[in-house]
Amino acid sequence: MEAIVKNLLTSIIILFISTSHAFSQGKTDLKVFISVDMEGITGVVNWEDVSRDGKDYEYFRKIMTKEANAAIEGALAAGATEILVRDSHGSARNILPEMLNSNAKLLRDWSGGFKSMMEGIDKTFDAVIFIGYHAKAGTPNAILEHTMSSRNITDVSINGISLPEAGINALIAGYYNVPVVFIAGELAVCQQAKKLIGEIETVAVKEGIGNAALNLHPEVVREKITEEVKKALLNLRKYKPYKLNPPYKLVLKLKNEELVHEKSFYPGAKRTGDWELTYENRDLLEVMKAFNRMH
Ligand SMILES: [Zn+2]
Repeated sequence: MEAIVKNLLTSIIILFISTSHAFSQGKTDLKVFISVDMEGITGVVNWEDVSRDGKDYEYFRKIMTKEANAAIEGALAAGATEILVRDSHGSARNILPEMLNSNAKLLRDWSGGFKSMMEGIDKTFDAVIFIGYHAKAGTPNAILEHTMSSRNITDVSINGISLPEAGINALIAGYYNVPVVFIAGELAVCQQAKKLIGEIETVAVKEGIGNAALNLHPEVVREKITEEVKKALLNLRKYKPYKLNPPYKLVLKLKNEELVHEKSFYPGAKRTGDWELTYENRDLLEVMKAFNRMH
């Protein structure tokens, strides 16, 4: 008798687990966060292309907006009900609001907060998407490669892992248990993201050859982005939030003597080399705050 009750209970539990999984697979309230940088947008090869006073800037901000739209269309096709687009480049005022798909909200300008390119992310989101991303500082055959600040930073590592912006931002998303499921940008950043995150869909829009780049056509890129974003969001269970183990040890290699000296006074920061600062904390958000203030 007891065995029968036990078996019955087990079947009920299994039935409950499998139905709740079935529900989570076809989510009814899919919330998507899209962080859009500019150096990794199709066609961009020079700082002038991504600077307000550059002759082709107005052109490339349109392409940037269209690549954001391609991701939004993919998200909508997968059933997204809420989409936040974070303009993450330079002034954070590049995406053209009128041209952006009206189903998304646009976060413009810098708040002064430490989440920076991930401003607006929280635990209510289901997935993160990166558009227009570029490789980390020091990457060979990469386009406009840098990590957060091309003027000040040589390298950023946490727990011995050298990180591109995609890695830093994936850690912030991971803190809120949100996985990064897709990245579009140059080939080098797609490879770096795959190496760090593992399961992630990518669209390499261009391949660096020294300082030059071989580009796909913008239309081809947009089609690929829509298709891959949709595919990723329909298979959300494949992807895991990106996390490292605490305590977190941030090592920052800077380019400027004065800056190294000045930032060594950030509470908890230590100068650990001629051009190097180290900061350690068990709380990832404290590390991100420190990073934001130390460069
Ligand atoms: Zn940028």
